[in-house]
Amino acid sequence: MRPIQMVDTKTQYLHIKDEIDSAIHSVLDSAAYINGKPVQDFAAALSTYTGAKFTIPCANGTDALQIAMMALDLQPGDEVITPSFTYIATTEVVALLKLKPVFVEVDPKTFCMDPQSLRAAITPKTKAIVPVHLYGHAAPMEEIMQIAKEFNLYVIEDNAQAIGCDYTFSDGTKKKTGTIGTIGTTSFYPSKNLGAYGDGGAIFTNDEALAHKLKMIANHGQEKRYYHELVGCNSRLDTLQAAVLNVKLKRLDQYNAARRKVAAFYNKALEGNKHITVPFVAPYSDHVYHQYTILLNDADRDGLSAHLAEQKIPSMIYYPVPGHKQKMFSSLKLPELDLATTDSLTGRVISLPVHTEMDEEQLTFITQQVLNFLNR
Ligand SMILES: *Cc1c(COP(=O)(O)O)cnc(C)c1O
Repeated sequence: MRPIQMVDTKTQYLHIKDEIDSAIHSVLDSAAYINGKPVQDFAAALSTYTGAKFTIPCANGTDALQIAMMALDLQPGDEVITPSFTYIATTEVVALLKLKPVFVEVDPKTFCMDPQSLRAAITPKTKAIVPVHLYGHAAPMEEIMQIAKEFNLYVIEDNAQAIGCDYTFSDGTKKKTGTIGTIGTTSFYPSKNLGAYGDGGAIFTNDEALAHKLKMIANHGQEKRYYHELVGCNSRLDTLQAAVLNVKLKRLDQYNAARRKVAAFYNKALEGNKHITVPFVAPYSDHVYHQYTILLNDADRDGLSAHLAEQKIPSMIYYPVPGHKQKMFSSLKLPELDLATTDSLTGRVISLPVHTEMDEEQLTFITQQVLNFLNR
């Protein structure tokens, strides 16, 4: 059996090696390392793929969130509501910009922002909501957008984990996650569903004026070279990374389908076991399984991960410490929060390997080992 890894970017590369190598070589030949043609080609292709009117490439998914918040002219002290149960980047940029992170609960079935908790957290100082499409499942965008409209709030979708995911509205229309809110952001970190061979990110919007501003902020606040109208930053997608991403974007649906196949295998083997809960998929959401995360109902998580590790099966905890318990926010003197669902999930989630290169032999072995541990 091939060794099992959480992600296997190497094997994926070998399947597309010729195309990737030639894309990289053409960048080397052109010597257009910064803002070369592949960057514009990629932005255009990604707009076509997602349906977003405007796509602004940038250096990584964290910058994408930061630039989004900068473009909305939020003022120090303004409140930004995010789930506590997310990767740190989502909330770190809020604090970095001297805004106030307000942590809310997630739905224990979808791991995404709970609209009731969101509604309860809104104050006159609230300016923006940042839902996260965690693990590749969409946050309940229709409800979130309704609440945003009611209270006149911006919505920034953190779509780093769900590129390619479809959201279905109650009238049947579909949109890609990341294109529903005021702004959407994503990451091309190598292990993401659309991964580069280094860092990368992008920002989406359907608002032309906002697109213009986002683009300027990502480029030192300038439109005309050396004439700086806004305080911005330097956040670019490398031409080399764009060249890689152009090759991989064409395969994104195929890659997401491969992840779904892995998840279906896991579900079939593990569903119904009383010790665990397999991932739930809400009727409005598709799932692109950035992670395949199970919830332990009673089983010992350390024991399970140690048992798997003994069998050379990696597993991960995303995330062991929720935002509201991170030391980095202690200086903000945030109110003590009682986020019981988040605290409970933090102690009970475990993610199994999921990527585009897994075979049945590996999946059979993993599920057997999980079941051996659970049923002993
Ligand atoms: C990966 C990730 C980010 C940050 O992306 P980087 O490209 O690593 O900066 C932000 N939010 C979420 C939910 C992520 O998973």
